[in-house]
Amino acid sequence: MTAVARTRSALEAARAGWAAAGESVAVVMTMGALHAGHAELIRQARDGDQRIIVTDFLNPLQFAPGEDLDKYPRTFAADLELCTEEGVDLLFAPAPSEVYPAGDPIVRVAAGPVGDVLEGEARPGHFDGVLTVVAKLLHLTAPHRAYFGQKDAQQLWLIKQMVTDLDLPAEVVEVPTVRDDDGLALSSRNIYLVDADRDQALTLHRALEAGESAAVNGATAVVEAAQAQLTASGVRSDYVVLVDPENFTAMNGPGPAILLVAAHVGSTRLIDNVRLHVGSSEK
Ligand code: AMP
Repeated sequence: MTAVARTRSALEAARAGWAAAGESVAVVMTMGALHAGHAELIRQARDGDQRIIVTDFLNPLQFAPGEDLDKYPRTFAADLELCTEEGVDLLFAPAPSEVYPAGDPIVRVAAGPVGDVLEGEARPGHFDGVLTVVAKLLHLTAPHRAYFGQKDAQQLWLIKQMVTDLDLPAEVVEVPTVRDDDGLALSSRNIYLVDADRDQALTLHRALEAGESAAVNGATAVVEAAQAQLTASGVRSDYVVLVDPENFTAMNGPGPAILLVAAHVGSTRLIDNVRLHVGSSEK
């Protein structure tokens, strides 16, 4: 059974034992409400012959007032079961007062310009909150490798940039997005979708597929094809954009790209993305 640590000292004790035995450590950071997407991150970590820590922390710092912090699904018993089934060594599930003993931190990580666009524009301050807790959890868990999903492409880009810019001593491993059979990207927030929303939610994936199919015709065609799918289904999008994976800024020319979409379905805001190659049909 996966051990549970609620405190820094319990985490440190486990961590010190592994360090003494010369074992490598991997971390998978989550906000709980675990699903098959999280399980895939854990499986990829398990392939690496290393101890696995899953962090389960609903980080208040990355939620603005009025966002879904209060209603975010909390499923600790099921999360522990999933961790046990997947062979996780330690589930670190601290209370906010353990992570932020002096209250909200005064000094935080600044995400920079990429933190102000797309998800950052819709959720001001969100990425500063994400990067601050990721930096803290990297210090507390001291992993050799940290696994993050491509599902949150902007977050992943910012974490990789932070690790580089601040010389944080961990290797970031990217894991492709896990989807339901019908293509819907798995998300803890899918639980908010009522049956009637699900068809509309699938439009995000259809829009990305339409964009992929248009890749050979250039950047504008990609965005137009994706937007047309959303419009036809009556889904209100926040953005449909192509970005350069190198710098996460909008791109218009040929080359590798990420097509990103954010849209409102019922009362839920969903995001999804796909990697493609503009100017060719390869991915
Ligand atoms: P969350 O608990 O939603 O903050 O996600 C924790 C980690 O799981 C992040 O690195 C996410 O990118 C990753 N993740 C969430 N959903 C998926 C998915 N459907 N496929 C792959 N990774 C995911």
